[in-house]
Amino acid sequence: MKAEIVHMTAENIDKESLKRAGRILQEGGLVAFPTETVYGLGGNALDFKASKKIYAAKGRPSDNPLIVHIADMESLPKIVKELPPKAKILAEKFWPGPLTMILPKSDAVPLETTGGLNTVAVRFPSDPIAQSLIRYAGGYVAAPSANTSGRPSPTLAEHVEEDLGDAIDMIIDGGQVGIGLESTIVDFTEDVPVVLRPGYISLEMLREVLGEVRMDKGLLKTDSKIHPKAPGMKYRHYAPKAELSIVEGESGEVVAAINRLAKEAKAKGETVGIIATDETAEQYTAGLVKSIGKREEEETIAHHLYEVLREFDKYQVSAIYSEAFYTPRMGQAIMNRLLKAAGHKIIKAQEENEK
Ligand code: AMP
Ligand code: MG
Repeated sequence: MKAEIVHMTAENIDKESLKRAGRILQEGGLVAFPTETVYGLGGNALDFKASKKIYAAKGRPSDNPLIVHIADMESLPKIVKELPPKAKILAEKFWPGPLTMILPKSDAVPLETTGGLNTVAVRFPSDPIAQSLIRYAGGYVAAPSANTSGRPSPTLAEHVEEDLGDAIDMIIDGGQVGIGLESTIVDFTEDVPVVLRPGYISLEMLREVLGEVRMDKGLLKTDSKIHPKAPGMKYRHYAPKAELSIVEGESGEVVAAINRLAKEAKAKGETVGIIATDETAEQYTAGLVKSIGKREEEETIAHHLYEVLREFDKYQVSAIYSEAFYTPRMGQAIMNRLLKAAGHKIIKAQEENEK
């Protein structure tokens, strides 16, 4: 099966194609579509067979639950047992938008969709194409990121085609997504809300609205035996084919260390890629250098992260050295993805330079 590809923009929605896509979903098929975070691989969330198809198409472990996407608040009561007051406050503040909430599930949601859990992850995306598709599909679309399991999430329709073009029915090409990193996930099954995955909506933004909010311990202690609570966060993920190392420290030290490491790797026959920023790109002397964005505008780094990792796959580099991006607002989300892509391989620039 080759996926049919249809093109549209948020400003110029092709309703007829979306109606057709909605019908495909209602009949149990799979359609990839743009959202403001990354591209999603949609199936009818209330149809256990469609959820099974999603896992099969992605090669996703079946204990890694799917996020159910809705397109209005009225759709929520059918799929959740209750909406805790704090969750209601967040919904009013951040929906539609890049926020996913974990809530107790109702019987309408099959266990295949939730990976066997009695909770369900729910998101109301702001992307107009996504919203329209969800309505045509009957209101409930399960959609993980539309990549093969383990690969970087897709931020362009071409990425989806690369991974899933032969495995799904339709791809809606809405151009490049806005944010480029997956939604922030907040768990409401404990007294204090817990962030299970950092995203565009930061811990500080959540605390401003709710007061006390915790970060999942499994996210903070990267090499401990504490597992993250979101089943999907324990897998190596977002990963390019090459060995990726993150080099951290003061900017000048980082450039010097990467230049040395790149030279050494090259001498050993490796093809080297370097993830730089606009501020540093010209200071690198070896390897294929790609600027991921501007430190001064940190959204540009989030926006290009997955695209850069996929580009290096295309060039078949075997070793990638990346600067670290502990930027003030989105640094937590960016570094969470980059660390997982690198299998937590971090090099301290200063120690490297003292060798
Ligand atoms: P993706 O669909 O690729 O954005 O990944 C969805 C993420 O949400 C994974 O990390 C899942 O483990 C997590 N998730 C989905 N449903 C639940 C749930 N009921 N409880 C905890 N985490 C969840
Ligand atoms: Mg994913």
